[in-house]
Amino acid sequence: MTHKLPYTLSTIGEFGLISRIAAGVSGHESIITGIGDDAAVTAISAGMQLLTSTDMLLEDVHFRRSWHLPYCLGRKSLAVSISDIAAMGGIPRWALLSLAIPPKLPLEFVDDFMRGFLAMASEYQVFLIGGDTCSSRSGFTVSVTIMGEQKPGIIVRRSGAVPDDDIWVTGTVGDAALGLKILEDADIASLTGSKQPKQSPSNGIVDDSPFLINRLLDPTPRVSAALALAESAAITAMIDVSDGILADYGHIAEQSGVGGCVQLDDLPLSASFRRHTAHLPVIPYHMALSGGEDYELCFTAHRSSREKIVDCVKKCGIAATRIGIVTSSPELKVVNRDGSRYTAQTEGFNHFI
Ligand SMILES: [Mg+2]
Repeated sequence: MTHKLPYTLSTIGEFGLISRIAAGVSGHESIITGIGDDAAVTAISAGMQLLTSTDMLLEDVHFRRSWHLPYCLGRKSLAVSISDIAAMGGIPRWALLSLAIPPKLPLEFVDDFMRGFLAMASEYQVFLIGGDTCSSRSGFTVSVTIMGEQKPGIIVRRSGAVPDDDIWVTGTVGDAALGLKILEDADIASLTGSKQPKQSPSNGIVDDSPFLINRLLDPTPRVSAALALAESAAITAMIDVSDGILADYGHIAEQSGVGGCVQLDDLPLSASFRRHTAHLPVIPYHMALSGGEDYELCFTAHRSSREKIVDCVKKCGIAATRIGIVTSSPELKVVNRDGSRYTAQTEGFNHFI
């Protein structure tokens, strides 16, 4: 009986892996020289400026292999970078991908990761033009550098918010944080041997866990809405919500030299979020305020742009909600319906905890 050994990076070597990855990559007229030379050569469209951003995803810091199927991890690795270009009003174009791979990791994992990465790339017309691979002594590590382009007048920065602007957010917030909590609770349950949360309840009750978990593991970058908003010239500042609406709006406030007042009741919560937390004595607003990884857009705009903004995002199939007002005092506060102050429990996801 023959025993088939699982292929690993050590079986095929770094160059073997690079050719394996390159085989799945598609070309584009903007790429003059792609993977295979010392550097890639790309052509920026006339009148455009280059936007560049880089992100790292580390095993057990940003993801767990036990939770994240490699296909979804590949998708998310690129999605978070696409989201950064979108948050500037940029058009995502080219990506560089570097991977540090444990030598014993099955090649099937890398293949599935790449399938996910390239599927996301193709959905958003992003082209992989290079990168690096090496062996890792600890976990699987992903580094993505993305480049995009945009006309100088359309690029939106964090620094443009002015007092009395509305603060907006697209979609819903808190879903990814709740998804994370569900996964953590399921892990604790399996470790302690206690009953696992039901995955498919009978008796007609909707199980919201898959939706919430999916929001964490397979986020959707809001590219078309971001582009439409930037092109509309209706918005003054924008950021993507990666660390929680409070922390991310805090970056806009800081860069713009302003503060903000967020209305707790106005935070857009999904039906899944509401149903899944309905049994709790209070709505866990801290997840909506400080939970990371929703990858929605937070932006500011003058009150005269309200209708334009609603139309703009509606055409992209999502909603945008006004959640507060930019203030001239540098303070950032969250208030209850009666105007009393809500004390947030934490200021965004801290990678170092
Ligand atoms: Mg960002």
